[in-house]
Amino acid sequence: MTDTFDGKVVLVTGAGSGIGRASAQLFAKRGARVVVADVKGEQAKETVNTIEQRGGEAIATHTDVSSPAEVAAMVQRALAAYGRIDCAFNNAGIEGEMAPTAQCSEANWDRTIAVNLKGVWLCMKAEIPVMLEQGGGAIVNCASVAGLVGFAGLPAYCASKGGIVQLTKTAALEYAQQGIRVNALCPGVIHTPMVDRLTGEEAEAESQFTALEPVGRMGTPEEMAQAAVWLCSDEASYVTGHPFAADGGFVAA
Ligand code: NAP
Repeated sequence: MTDTFDGKVVLVTGAGSGIGRASAQLFAKRGARVVVADVKGEQAKETVNTIEQRGGEAIATHTDVSSPAEVAAMVQRALAAYGRIDCAFNNAGIEGEMAPTAQCSEANWDRTIAVNLKGVWLCMKAEIPVMLEQGGGAIVNCASVAGLVGFAGLPAYCASKGGIVQLTKTAALEYAQQGIRVNALCPGVIHTPMVDRLTGEEAEAESQFTALEPVGRMGTPEEMAQAAVWLCSDEASYVTGHPFAADGGFVAA
């Protein structure tokens, strides 16, 4: 495969764990210089260490994507280090607390929307001017199958992810003629620390989650990384505004 990311700069949020970490590692393996952002700064540094150990190039930034000031600082750090941002995988997200709609607390609603939905908007708001200045770019926002179908017990999460899908389509239309592609990745059930928190790593809960997947297993962070990297790559040059389900058939059911 051509290393289409040679010389490119890719920003990945939530890259200290799970899907974000695997994506940062794959972007680096494909030749990109990677800006690894996470609210857990130490975990971001660990991701950078794994990239450097394999001969790649990356920097870490401690960023809470729900903070406008921290997102602006993240983009400034990327520009100071590498001078440009070609691609962004706005992946950071939280599951929030599980409770049906009538029991969802206001605090859970506000924090989940602030990180997942406002965070993606803040990132795009900071990234798009840089990409316009450069003459183009590619953005992938991490939504979920929970942005395409309902998921009982996660009202704020589903609302945030559905919002990301619509925000993605809107931004794709707005910047299509200026060379910026904007897509959403909609993972199914992926075996990461987030899912371990939801299942409590209990066998019965895990098999209930697995049963949601027509392929009969959870996906891996590395499989999501392949999808994110492809959507950012020049190989996806005619793909924009698309909610891309990488979900083992979840939404086909
Ligand atoms: P993960 O292992 O928990 O990784 C998410 C990373 O993002 C963590 O390091 C987390 O830190 C960080 N983060 C949380 N809030 C942040 C903030 N405000 N600013 C910056 N970073 C923040 O979860 P994952 O499964 O890889 O999830 C990645 C994305 O995929 C999320 O958007 C998630 O909604 C989406 N997704 C996951 C699945 C799945 O089955 N795993 C399915 C569909 C969609 P903390 O550990 O401190 O929270």
